[in-house]
Amino acid sequence: MKNLCYESKSACLLKCPYCISSDNGIMKEEQYLKIIDFIDNLLPERLVISGGEPLLDSLLKEKITLINKKYNEKNKESYISISTSATSNIENDMWEFLKNNIKCFDVSIPTLNHDVYKMMRGNDLLDIALINIRKAIKYGLNVNVD
Ligand code: SF4
Repeated sequence: MKNLCYESKSACLLKCPYCISSDNGIMKEEQYLKIIDFIDNLLPERLVISGGEPLLDSLLKEKITLINKKYNEKNKESYISISTSATSNIENDMWEFLKNNIKCFDVSIPTLNHDVYKMMRGNDLLDIALINIRKAIKYGLNVNVD
């Protein structure tokens, strides 16, 4: 399998009117080990961890560590991409972790106009997203913005 998208967290700080994340229901945190076993069976070439907002997931580090371990056990290199709005507060230790454990920090920013951003996303968190993009670059992550 080439690509797999893992929605790790339903919650999000934004309220896009077109959001379909809630259509999938609320994820039960205790089931993540089963999901990681499923990923282990498929070992996709590229794993996109999304949400909701994956950086609100208190288990994110644990999940990524486990997933990387599964790849290592099979002598395969993982390619984990975090798909994020980058609108949450990201602590320094998380930046360090991401730098060492993922391959791509993929940020969705629909516009650089604050009014349009608020209209599209429910909240104007554009400045936070831009600050986080600069931090991601500073920490040496591979950053993709679209
Ligand atoms: S940023 Fe994504 S997950 Fe969050 S509300 Fe918008 S569409 Fe939904």
